[in-house]
Parts: sequence; C-alpha cells; structure tokens
Amino acid sequence: MVGVERPFVEIDDVSMRYGGAEGTLALRHTNMRVAKGEFVAVVGPSGCGKSTLMRLVTGLWPPSAGSVIVAGHEVDGPLSVAGMAFQAPTMLPWRTILQNVMLPLEVVEPHRRRLRANRAMYEEKARKLLALVGLAGFEHKNPHQLSGGMQQRASLCRALIHDPQLLMLDEPFGALDVFTREDLWVELQGVCEVLKPTVILVTHDLKEATFLADRVLIMSARPGRIIAERTVPFPRPRNLDLTYTQPFQELVHDLREHISAARRGEEPAAAPSPEEATHAA
Ligand code: ADP
Repeated sequence: MVGVERPFVEIDDVSMRYGGAEGTLALRHTNMRVAKGEFVAVVGPSGCGKSTLMRLVTGLWPPSAGSVIVAGHEVDGPLSVAGMAFQAPTMLPWRTILQNVMLPLEVVEPHRRRLRANRAMYEEKARKLLALVGLAGFEHKNPHQLSGGMQQRASLCRALIHDPQLLMLDEPFGALDVFTREDLWVELQGVCEVLKPTVILVTHDLKEATFLADRVLIMSARPGRIIAERTVPFPRPRNLDLTYTQPFQELVHDLREHISAARRGEEPAAAPSPEEATHAA
C-alpha cells in the first residue's frame, strides 16, 4: 500500500467467547480500523461487546479467534502504549490527586526506571495536565475531597501521563450529571487537540459520540460486530452550541435508528464457526 499509512489499530475477523465452548459469544467476526490520530467512538446496545472490544485492543484478554494489531504489532499482552479511563474514576483513596495521576509512571517503562532520577520533571508534567483540565491547586487533595467530575478529570490526566499513543475510554463520563459531562467533552477535545492521541471511546451516549468523534462505529446486538459507521463532518474545535443544530441532531437521530434496529435484532446472524467454538477463552 504505497502512500497509504497503515491503520494504528487493526482488528481482523476477531471473535471472543467467554467461559469455554458453551460460554457467551461476545464478539463474532468483528473488523475495525482506526487511523493514527483518529478519534473513533463505538456505540451499540447494552451487552453487545463494547467493553470486550476494549479489553482485546488493550491486551487484557486474548481473542478466541482473529488478530488484534496495534502500531504494527500483534497484541499479545497488556499494551504499554495505551492509557485507559473507565466509568468509575478508581482513584486510590490514600494517595493525593498528584500521586494518583503519577501512578502509571511507576508501572510503565521507560518511565518506571526514570522516575526516581526525574521525579521533578514528571511532577511538572502531571501539574501541567491537571491545569489543562482545570485542576490546578488540587494536586495535594485526596480523591474524596473532589467531586465526581473533578475525579474523572484527574483520571483522564492519569490516562495521559505516560504519553500514550492510544487513549481508550470506556464510558468515562457515564456516571456524571449532564452539565459536568458536557463540560468534560469540551475539556477532552482540548486535551486531544494538544496531545493528538489516537482515541477509541465506548459510550452509550449518542450525543457524546457525535460531539467528540471523527467517526462513529455502530455495533450489532451480541454477539457484536461493527454493522455501520458514520463520519462526523463538523469542523473542530466544536462547541456545545453545535449540539442544538439540525445537522447534529439529524446525525444523532440516524445513529439512534441504527441502534434501535440492532436492539430489535434486525441484523442477520451467522452460525458460529468451528474455530470460535474450539478457541474459547
Ligand atoms: P458492553 O460493554 O457492550 O455492555 P460487554 O463487552 O461488557 O458488553 O459484554 C458482552 C457480553 O459478554 C455480555 O453478554 C456479558 O455478559 C459477557 N461478558 C463480559 N465479560 C465477561 C466475562 N468476564 N465472563 C463472562 N461473560 C462476560
């Protein structure tokens, strides 16, 4: 492919079955491509395998069949090029916000071996990230002293502290009230503008997907696979007024119709291959 950059994430014909040959088939013959620097949102009915897809891309689980390639390498264990944030901010309560944000540096190489000698530099970096999401001055607070939205901002900083090339967000704003959530969309967009990571966001919020993503992928009901995609045409930076415009609402409506159809099971279901039955997790 001369002149065409290889996708940063390549999911090829991936199937995933939990719990042995008779277990739950979560994904079936799933294909997905994400370009370097692209922001992709994955939406689909509850239980369709969105979180499973995230676990496979980050190497937390091996697929039952097919291959997952990130940055040109087959994923065969937890990915150090990825930063992750989930619905619950999962801050360690006995650590300050700054210490929580710096946690990945104690785990991920090459930062781990550099941390002791370069602590001041890394602390400065953590402070800058916290300032970027409006948390300057909260570095030495403990998590319980911050609101849910502030903790989620901090958890975003923790996901970004080791300069991940790939940011994986699994319903990161799902537990927040709508105003905080929308503020964080704008903050996340700002952070991505500066750091330019490749992002995969799993969400059930179709407005969130449309506001943030370059492209929205729609999954079928379980066993999940990508059944449709929509390119989001709105220029960046986007502001929240966009969400009240007709083109935005039409795109959200179009996505909603796809999800409703997927929930009604209107996608053709193929029989599982013998491979899926035998290569079970
Ligand atoms: P989603 O994130 O779209 O809600 P998940 O990926 O969490 O869906 O789950 C897809 C399916 O796989 C669900 O039916 C769920 O019950 C099942 N599943 C998820 N994790 C496990 C697990 N560790 N063991 C067994 N089944 C699981």
